Amino acid sequence: MVAKKIAVLGGGESGVGAALLAQAKGFDVFLSDKGSLKESYRATLRAAGIPFEEGEHTEEKILDAVEVVKSPGIPATVPLVQKLKAQGTPVISEIEFAARYTNAKLIGITGSNGKTTTTLLIYHLLKKAGLNVGLAGNVGDSFAAQVIDGSFDYYVLELSSFQLDDMVDTHLDVMVLLNITPDHLDRYGYNFQNYIDSKFRILQNAQPSDTFIYFEESQPILDELAKRNPSVNKLPISLQATPSPGGFFQNGQLTATLGDSSFQMAMTNTTLRGPHNAINTLAAVLAAKAVGIDNESITEGLKTFQNAAHRLEPAGTINDVQFINDSKATNVDSVFYALSSMEAPTIWIAGGQDKGNDYSQLDEVVSRKVKALICLGIDNQKLINYFGNKIPAIYETQQVADAVAKGLEWAKPGDAVLLSPACASFDLFKNYEDRGNQFKAAVQKLIDEV
Ligand code: ADP
Repeated sequence: MVAKKIAVLGGGESGVGAALLAQAKGFDVFLSDKGSLKESYRATLRAAGIPFEEGEHTEEKILDAVEVVKSPGIPATVPLVQKLKAQGTPVISEIEFAARYTNAKLIGITGSNGKTTTTLLIYHLLKKAGLNVGLAGNVGDSFAAQVIDGSFDYYVLELSSFQLDDMVDTHLDVMVLLNITPDHLDRYGYNFQNYIDSKFRILQNAQPSDTFIYFEESQPILDELAKRNPSVNKLPISLQATPSPGGFFQNGQLTATLGDSSFQMAMTNTTLRGPHNAINTLAAVLAAKAVGIDNESITEGLKTFQNAAHRLEPAGTINDVQFINDSKATNVDSVFYALSSMEAPTIWIAGGQDKGNDYSQLDEVVSRKVKALICLGIDNQKLINYFGNKIPAIYETQQVADAVAKGLEWAKPGDAVLLSPACASFDLFKNYEDRGNQFKAAVQKLIDEV
């Protein structure tokens, strides 16, 4: 019998993993990437004997596949994907493909902001409690590669809207929806509702006994839930009200309730700070409780969690001025929360590639916390136009070291210098990691000099 063919579009972590899984399941596999592959991925594919191409998509090698696994980075609007869809070939995500080959319980996390933090925290809580758990999706190793040997009982999956778009039948046991604010609208026809629909795909296969954890102060989530009224065990989280069951945060105290079991802990006893992280923590605690983890283990986990870099990451202190790297804050909402978390008067470094930003959401918090703005981007005009009359001191530069030096010059002991850009990084940097690393290196250099 001739093996059925699976074509994989995009040769990153998820694509290469999907190709390996497809081969392990007996498919004839072809991987195609319009760009170039990392050398390590080339080596992996060669070692496995999987044919691949770089620099183009050869249609005749792809159109005859029974199914196509598409990288989340490739928009559905590219002509090849349109052609596949028109001829009825299913185009799915790596998550969808991999989920068919595991019986593990799946916990999926989405939202415009906070996904990685919450995903890593849930993973940490489950692992600390002794569960046999894997981490995948937008973080960590490929989900598909991990299910090849079927080693985990649970997977914690970070799901971007692009991954959700190509998920169809995947059943998630626990679903977390943190917030929905306008982002990536260029991929959604500049229609916010399309983006909301994408996020709500996380609920598409929910059963009444599954758990859905969500932030109930996110208006788009509330409106959409009212429209859809899904039949699922709902656990809302709030910073203000007191939902029960669910989670809330009042007077510095986290409270999360599931059934007749309540968890309580002071936020200051966790390793995270800021109201946004109270939301993320409550979501993680509820997800952990939903898979049966006891309060004692959760407390231990929250005391020992270390978040990924570039998220309100302390970058060093000079003359009692704290430098904080929040390079991952690439949209306005995340900057809102970063500034809300600041206890010291703040010199704010922002800028980069604008994503259609509306800064009005920041007016109040900027007036309370920000004493100066340093614009770090090629085109800073929008920031300057908006904040010119609102922030007493503004400086413009295209050099990270210069931004850091100016921050130190303007700061008084006890102040903070926060890099929280509200913009993408691609004008001056390779990516947000590069921007954050350069910032940390510049701070370190100043520390070494004083
Ligand atoms: P994502 O993976 O969704 O991009 P991250 O956990 O990497 O989320 O955090 C990205 C940025 O978003 C952080 O720098 C932080 O400032 C902000 N952030 C984190 N959690 C939240 C939240 N629940 N609501 C709003 N902003 C958040």
